[in-house]
Amino acid sequence: MLLPDKQAYSALIMKVFESAGQIHAEINFLKSQGKKIGFVPTMGALHSGHMLLIKNALEECDIVVCSIFVNPLQFNNPDDYKKYPSTIAKDTQLLEEINCHILFHPGYDQVYGTSQPKVYDLSNLNDTMEGAFRPGHFQGVANVVLRLFEIVQPDVAYFGLKDYQQYMVVKHVTALHMPKLEIKGIETLRDENQLAMSSRNLRLSKEEYDSALKVPALLRQAGSMLQTHTSTQVQNWFNSQLSSIAHLKPEYLEFADADTLEPVTEFKQGKNIRVFTAFYAGEVRLIDNMAI
Ligand code: AMP
Repeated sequence: MLLPDKQAYSALIMKVFESAGQIHAEINFLKSQGKKIGFVPTMGALHSGHMLLIKNALEECDIVVCSIFVNPLQFNNPDDYKKYPSTIAKDTQLLEEINCHILFHPGYDQVYGTSQPKVYDLSNLNDTMEGAFRPGHFQGVANVVLRLFEIVQPDVAYFGLKDYQQYMVVKHVTALHMPKLEIKGIETLRDENQLAMSSRNLRLSKEEYDSALKVPALLRQAGSMLQTHTSTQVQNWFNSQLSSIAHLKPEYLEFADADTLEPVTEFKQGKNIRVFTAFYAGEVRLIDNMAI
């Protein structure tokens, strides 16, 4: 059978695979036809931030695969895993509307089979921030991402800079284990109130949301303050600001070199620095970061 060209493929109804073997065979076939495969791994509850990744992939690749798999290995908090939102019918519709070509929606066994999780070299990227506050999280991310890469065999994979440390970890393990695969980072999409879009925002009450949307401006201000204050002074200021807002509890504020994630304690002209935070709005843990 002749493979339809790109137009014809996207005009067909999106293909949905639950089996790792079947999608692997389909991608092998597409690659044998010279198709460039773009991949967007997600945990579902899709929003416009995910869609931005898919749009980028559609512009640059012949075939775009989105995966939806809530990976238990990357949840250090079982309650967070249990309460992770699932909106698969709506997700499927959104992916069809945007003309995504393939949805991979596997169960646990299709991803991991009976194999035990591996332990990956994460260099110093795991030492701070999410690595320090969520033990095991990035090992879980490295396991799922490399396993999905093996199954989907993309040429390019797209990750959001909202999860900047994750993006750095993925770039690191991919360079070590699949050096031909290109990893692209896409800037954070924010909602109309500047809150970084996140699947977890669905769990916020109206009051928690109203409090959380104050954080991006404070984060930006913290970034500017580093020019005239030490990181410790800014951290103290930020923590007291957040603590004074109803429903909010700061977990960390950190400055780090955007290229290495080494902690930064004072501003240096010409250095690529980002400011990072994790905080709770009610029981929901959110993260955000931006360049300063
Ligand atoms: P998740 O489903 O939360 O695992 O996210 C899947 C991918 O979407 C990850 O690469 C995230 O970094 C990315 N992503 C999540 N939120 C946003 C956002 N607001 N803007 C851009 N990318 C995002």
